[in-house]
Order: sequence, then C-alpha cells, then structure tokens
Amino acid sequence: MKNIADITACPKCGSRELGKGKHSGYSAMHPVNKMIIGTTIEYVICTECGYIIEGYVKKPGKFKGTLY
Ligand SMILES: [Zn+2]
Repeated sequence: MKNIADITACPKCGSRELGKGKHSGYSAMHPVNKMIIGTTIEYVICTECGYIIEGYVKKPGKFKGTLY
C-alpha cells in the first residue's frame, strides 16, 4: 500500500495545503453483498479546491470476494 504521506500537492490546482478527512458511521463503506459492519474511509483532500486526491478504506480485507 502506498504511503499516504507521499502526496505533497494537489494534482488539480497545485496547492500544497492538503488535509485529511474521513467518512464513518452512516456513511461508512460497506461490502455490497454482506450485511456486516462497514469500515471507515479516509481521504486526502485539497483544502484549496476541495478535490479528493485519494481515498482509502481502513479494512480493505472486508471487501475481498464481493465483486463476483
Ligand atoms: Zn486543489
């Protein structure tokens, strides 16, 4: 997994003022075919233009086997 700290500037506007946000609770990511607790999503966000540069689910292993 790529290190989230590798990103230093926004690809859209070039700003280096990046922030980190997360989705949790009702907006957590859930596997499509499993009725289990979802996982938090963390984002790297440009604080200038609002572009979401990267998003990660905290427990990607929960999503194995959900595509087919
Ligand atoms: Zn930006």
